[in-house]
Amino acid sequence: GETVIDIRHLKTSFFSKKTELPVVDDVSFSVHKGETLAIVGESGSGKSMTALSIMRLVPTPNGEIVDGEIYFNDRDLLKQKEKEMFKVRGNEISMIFQEPMTSLNPVYTIGDQIREQLTYHQDITRREAHQIGIEMLQTVGFSRAKEIMGEYPHRLSGGMRQRVMIAMALSNNPQLLIADEPTTALDVTVQAQILELMQKLSKEYDSAIILITHDLGVVAELAERVVVMYGGQVVEEAPIDELFDDPLHPYSEGLLNSIPKIEGTQDRLDSIPGTVPTPDNLPVGCNFVTRCPYAMELCQQEEPRLMDKDSSRKVRCFLHEEGIATDGQQHRSS
Ligand code: SF4
Ligand code: MG
Repeated sequence: GETVIDIRHLKTSFFSKKTELPVVDDVSFSVHKGETLAIVGESGSGKSMTALSIMRLVPTPNGEIVDGEIYFNDRDLLKQKEKEMFKVRGNEISMIFQEPMTSLNPVYTIGDQIREQLTYHQDITRREAHQIGIEMLQTVGFSRAKEIMGEYPHRLSGGMRQRVMIAMALSNNPQLLIADEPTTALDVTVQAQILELMQKLSKEYDSAIILITHDLGVVAELAERVVVMYGGQVVEEAPIDELFDDPLHPYSEGLLNSIPKIEGTQDRLDSIPGTVPTPDNLPVGCNFVTRCPYAMELCQQEEPRLMDKDSSRKVRCFLHEEGIATDGQQHRSS
């Protein structure tokens, strides 16, 4: 399909005194119309900061996008004035966050907030906005949509609030919807409903979705493609089935092994000891070298590049670079 967003070599850093700490480093991927792309990785891998970079909402004054391009329909967002970005946000690109309580204003009714959002971006009256609001709430599954318009956020359950947020995020027919852990705070049944709803609506409106999650299990059902991030970098990109059948990067392999077999039995990566290195503590060479069961000497000296494996797959690992001799080194112990 048509490319909606094309991110090339994005680099976002935090600056502490004179030190540059990269939180997103050489991130490239693109998303097409009607497609759901998942970004997966443990917390601290740079997923959320990638999303905030796309929205140009990197926290100031310490954070800054220092390199790369973000083409949104052939327009480089990194070259737009703040005034332009204001129009893009919530309109052409919408974002849903983990905890809707922080995005919904507690002192206004749902209706107030929906009407406000609609009239801000579209040339319509409040009465028209009210009517559209009711329809939107019906679309996301509220049967009592009229009543919901008059409710305050705290009167709704977490799942209901998240559905309100989805309705608001989709209200202006965004071309791109970025959902950052949109269901993490919700119980499993509601999670599934919300994710299904998001996907159904994106197909209906032909918008692209970037779904950010630490949970590969969620991704399996919903995404066509997946980008795996680690230590601020993309370490693998693959069609979802191929990643599950044959993960190329040792980190992807670890993530797959950590999917709980029985619901709720595991909440951390038992299969990969250790934690994601913080930006001020990145190892020399490959960012994964401190946790990788296949690490070679070379991995401690040089940084692997993200390479095309075939037309649909990319991986950042010396094990998959041609011409790198692994003889005499530790091998995959399959
Ligand atoms: Fe492991 Fe080396 Fe590959 Fe990094 S480059 S993932 S350390 S084998
Ligand atoms: Mg995050």
